[in-house]
Amino acid sequence: MFEVQIRIFASGKEGLMLEVGRIVIESGFALLRQSLNESDGGFLLTLTLRGPETALPELEERIAMHRLVRSIDFSVCESAVEPPEEFDSTVIEKILPKLAQTYPRILPDLVSFSHSLPANSREYAMYHVGRRIGAWVYKRDFALGARLALADAMRHVVLPAARQLVLVELDIDGVRMANSPFCGSAIELAQRHRRGCHFFLGYFEGLLNAGRAADRPVKVVETICRNSGASQCVFAITE
Ligand SMILES: [Zn+2]
Repeated sequence: MFEVQIRIFASGKEGLMLEVGRIVIESGFALLRQSLNESDGGFLLTLTLRGPETALPELEERIAMHRLVRSIDFSVCESAVEPPEEFDSTVIEKILPKLAQTYPRILPDLVSFSHSLPANSREYAMYHVGRRIGAWVYKRDFALGARLALADAMRHVVLPAARQLVLVELDIDGVRMANSPFCGSAIELAQRHRRGCHFFLGYFEGLLNAGRAADRPVKVVETICRNSGASQCVFAITE
């Protein structure tokens, strides 16, 4: 599943939202947000959707054929981790060069950084830092190798890269980690049952997706986190 924003320029609005909404649902997408505004003598309908990436071409084609639609454009949202209403991305840009200098000894700084962030943007910011670092490590250390199937990429990219940071073991469809520094401490346990390890979600996605075709990204989900009392964190990785 991924998120996409679609901007639809239409010559009229009569029935537009209802009919486009039906196409969205029939194509397998869920509507997360929508807005309709006047624009350039017509209307601009903006939709944020979540759904299967493979169904996007069909969705685009069907919306483009609608009698009121003049043009459409798509932008894929980077993350399914919900962004906070206000977010200053300069905090991420500031810490990345420091992390690149001290890599792979970055976890203590990342934990401090995580605690310095406001609670409402912590998950989003840590996920994005993880993605940037993962993609950077892939380009630095692994980009010259052949393009790998997911199972091989987990063995030959994720495992050696992650083991520079923390002890991990591979599972059939993911990664197990006994000592993530982002969960299990008093601070995180106060937020019991919230997953804590958004940095690693992003890091694994960055490592894997930097070496894959852009239209076939992997998705990483932390299915079990020590914050819920488990002995280790488990990350499921799917195509
Ligand atoms: Zn965790």
